[in-house]
Amino acid sequence: MTPPVARTVADLRHTTALWRRDGLRTAVVPTMGALHEGHLALIREGKARADRVMVTIFVNPKQFGANEDLARYPRNEAGDLAAVAGAGADLVFAPQPLQMYGPNFATTVTLDGPAKADLEDRFRPHFFDGVATVVAKLFIQSGADVAMFGEKDYQQLLVVRRMAEDLDIPVDVVGVPTIREADGLAMSSRNAYLSPEERKKAPAIHRALRHAAGRIREGANPGATAGAAADELAAQGFRVDYVAARNAETLALPSKPGETLRLIAAAWLGSTRLIDNIGV
Ligand code: AMP
Repeated sequence: MTPPVARTVADLRHTTALWRRDGLRTAVVPTMGALHEGHLALIREGKARADRVMVTIFVNPKQFGANEDLARYPRNEAGDLAAVAGAGADLVFAPQPLQMYGPNFATTVTLDGPAKADLEDRFRPHFFDGVATVVAKLFIQSGADVAMFGEKDYQQLLVVRRMAEDLDIPVDVVGVPTIREADGLAMSSRNAYLSPEERKKAPAIHRALRHAAGRIREGANPGATAGAAADELAAQGFRVDYVAARNAETLALPSKPGETLRLIAAAWLGSTRLIDNIGV
């Protein structure tokens, strides 16, 4: 059975108030829809950590730049409702943009720290303002005890965690490992944009990251190895925004031997921008 769909904050709060009255622990899984197995893994992990799971479906206009893919972003609510039912979601919150951003909306949540690491922020300067603003709203609206975010969007996970802590929002932000296709490509709603030829090439990003992580573990210089991975991808026809080795907690440049690193990449295939990352 598909879960009920709340369209307004009042409807959402009506249900969550009943849950709280019964002493139930709640999880929220924020998404932009076009759901795939990666999203469903977040829902299942939410189910394991809470009594009730809400999935939010909202293509957030504030996190898209003027020349980005807001208009063509895939939308499939009927398919999403069937999928979340299978994964055990108890409620879907799917507001219209006006419900989230009224005509006089004037507030933006902006972070430094992980949001200014010179990675995604360099190429999508308004992205984390949009993410932090909408996720702060979703946390406050849902009152969830725990929130599930994918490691696939690694910088975003750190930004959301920082934001919740800084704003004293009492939600535990949990990172869930990336779900991949059989050939290693990280699942993404945007993979639907890839032509068959591009789709065949796309797993090269994960391969390059794995290869680089192996070399760094064997003692190679992290920055130089990330640079070599970028060159390798460029030679294969990707337009590389960045491949970087960073401190896994702060996203700072590596500065001492033995610190835990994350390799993070963004690259274009034709008109599709792909991101991925891997622990070293
Ligand atoms: P999106 O709908 O792309 O904004 O993603 C919603 C949530 O799903 C975010 O927390 C993403 O990090 C997470 N997510 C997206 N793709 C994957 C994946 N392949 N594996 C795990 N989580 C994912």
